[in-house]
Amino acid sequence: MYVVLLGLPGAGKGTQAARLKSDTGLAHITTGELFRENIRNNTPLGQKAKPYVESGQLVPDEITIGMFLERIKAPDCREGCMFDGFPRNVEQAAALDEALAARGKQIDRAIYIYVEQDELVSRLAGRWSCQKCGAVYHETSQPPAVAGVCDNCGAQLTQRADDKPEVVRTRLEVNLRNLEPLLEFYRKKGKLTEVDGDREPDAITEDLKRLLDDGS
Ligand code: AMP
Repeated sequence: MYVVLLGLPGAGKGTQAARLKSDTGLAHITTGELFRENIRNNTPLGQKAKPYVESGQLVPDEITIGMFLERIKAPDCREGCMFDGFPRNVEQAAALDEALAARGKQIDRAIYIYVEQDELVSRLAGRWSCQKCGAVYHETSQPPAVAGVCDNCGAQLTQRADDKPEVVRTRLEVNLRNLEPLLEFYRKKGKLTEVDGDREPDAITEDLKRLLDDGS
């Protein structure tokens, strides 16, 4: 099963994908993390992507699509996958459809997790994440047991540079601009389901699991 998770930054796509991964075994591919890893390792791709990621702009399609298509060739994505952060525009969605069609596959579901913008700003400002296992926390609504330390793996938690308020505003604007055409792309194909993301994470996970299990 191939699933696209859609939503503005901070909507909980990464958190939910990590939970679903342990329940369903589906691989979780996140382009934001692929870029951050390349930036940390100072690869040529990371050097090209860095100014865009740090300023909250989308990395140009000619860099992003190539990186993504390379990643989905890996064996863990052969039978199914959850895509988080890709596609971010209609051009990317079309490239993904084409790549899957070439293997006789298709996107089965696009799930839009929606959350009000004011709530997103406060979520992003208090967000801490683990670079080792990808777990995500929030200072007030979902703090780790020990401040600054990951509950899952004990690694140190960090705040993302692009969660600074001025960059957050740019990220929301850029993503909002592209979101509606992207939703329309999947709506027209009859693949879009919307899920209220302004609830307890467990309730959202239950809804998503049901959607992946039986499509209800
Ligand atoms: P995220 O972790 O999904 O919020 O992504 C962090 C940053 O990576 C974004 O603000 C963009 O600069 C870049 N990025 C992630 N996914 C994409 C994409 N599909 N297209 C272009 N840029 C992306």
